[in-house]
Amino acid sequence: MTQTAASPSPASAVRGRVLLAADAGFAEAARPWNRHIEQSVAAVVEVADADDIAGLVRYAGTHGWVVTVQPSGHGATGDTGAEDAPVVLVRTGRLNRIIVDQVARTARVGAGVTWGQLQVAAAPSGLTGLPGSSPVVSVVGFILGGGLSWFSRRHGWGADSVLAFEIVDAAGRRRRIGRSSDGSDAELFWALLGGGGDVAVVTEVEVELHPAPAVYGGRMVWPATHADEVLSRFREVTASAPESLTVWTDLLRFPGADPLVAIDTTYLGDSVAARALLAPFDRVSGRLSDSRAVLRADELGAITAEPTAPSAGLSCATLLTGFDEHTAKALIAAPTERQLSVQVRHLGGALAGPTATASGPLVEPYLLYLFGLPGTPEATTAVEAGQEDTLAAVAGWRGSRVPFTFLAPGQRASDAFPPETITRLREIKRRHDPAGTFRANFPLEG
Ligand SMILES: Cc1cc2nc3c(=O)[nH]c(=O)nc-3n(C[C@H](O)[C@H](O)[C@H](O)COP(=O)(O)OP(=O)(O)OC[C@H]3O[C@@H](n4cnc5c(N)ncnc54)[C@H](O)[C@@H]3O)c2cc1C
Repeated sequence: MTQTAASPSPASAVRGRVLLAADAGFAEAARPWNRHIEQSVAAVVEVADADDIAGLVRYAGTHGWVVTVQPSGHGATGDTGAEDAPVVLVRTGRLNRIIVDQVARTARVGAGVTWGQLQVAAAPSGLTGLPGSSPVVSVVGFILGGGLSWFSRRHGWGADSVLAFEIVDAAGRRRRIGRSSDGSDAELFWALLGGGGDVAVVTEVEVELHPAPAVYGGRMVWPATHADEVLSRFREVTASAPESLTVWTDLLRFPGADPLVAIDTTYLGDSVAARALLAPFDRVSGRLSDSRAVLRADELGAITAEPTAPSAGLSCATLLTGFDEHTAKALIAAPTERQLSVQVRHLGGALAGPTATASGPLVEPYLLYLFGLPGTPEATTAVEAGQEDTLAAVAGWRGSRVPFTFLAPGQRASDAFPPETITRLREIKRRHDPAGTFRANFPLEG
């Protein structure tokens, strides 16, 4: 793709705020949420509405620009492809409409809406979406990567609950595609259900909401000296957990504090049943705190207390084919220096079942997610080395792919899918965006 020698500013195509490199505030507007990531773009556009996106895509097609959408930059990789073509970074914050239909149990959600905002809108109706651990991740960005929710064991991928997308295609046309689409629209719909944001810009998504008359959950914490026993109970509880129960464990190291081990949990049901299922954890002595309580659906984001303001992070993940006593021992023994969190999430349930998404069935029963705090070059190197050592310690249990939303900078979209799926996604990319106008954080062709 080549840039037209003297293309006009993208401001000629939109009504929203446009910032070019020479403008005050450009650097801040172009920074992603993950402050560890540096990224280079030629312009930032805070689009006013879906028509703005359509105008911008037509502009990009005409003048050889690339469109990359980043509601927040939680999933930024630093590789915007800016060396090949001028890149316009689209911020979707003004597409913030949420319409909940309590009777139909659906929500229409704009491309700037976060999970925390959708949960606040759904909770008064006794309904929930399928949020992950962070309330400040965008609903659309999460769903485009499949999306692993607190409630995925019960309801599958976030993408499994999508009814329809409003999109702008590579020709700059606004379209609605959904479960009843056929032909090429059906393949585009499938690709957006977990294949990332490389084939269209989504302006709005319509999702099913799920009944949540009662939600129970919270975090229990012990000194890390109890990790052996806590992880043993974790294996016991997850081995027989019903789909409504989700349990994660975390080895936590906050700077300047003693290491800890935690259990994070949610249950779609009443507190009595939940407490009975979680009783093995009550038998572990030395508990320092227990925040478990009946929750509103919009309080889930508080369980793991992840940062909600932009901050730096270095993470990586792997699926685990099992989590036996040897895996647990290997993790406890692995160096966790400068790793804020070494987290094991129990998967399974509906995630392993049939799905019409590009994400496909997720058969591995556990996910290991490592999160460290980078800083100075030495600190960053130490975090990376610690993560490599930890992954090496569980090498015998690693799954064959990484869920798309858990890919790390340096990995590729092809790391998230079986070979036949990435081949199909690439064919769809070539058919629907032959000029390469769109560029996701993990491009399909990369
Ligand atoms: C603290 C934290 C906790 C997390 N917890 C979970 C979790 O529990 N489960 C889980 O599955 N993931 C989790 N994630 C990962 C997160 O879901 C992904 O990084 C997701 O892509 C973030 O979406 P975003 O739009 O907020 O981020 P962004 O970086 O702004 O966007 C990510 C990518 O999505 C695409 N995209 C976003 N919006 C659009 C659009 N409207 N049209 C086209 N493409 C678009 C783009 O390719 C973009 O690069 C977590 C991330 C963090 C930082």
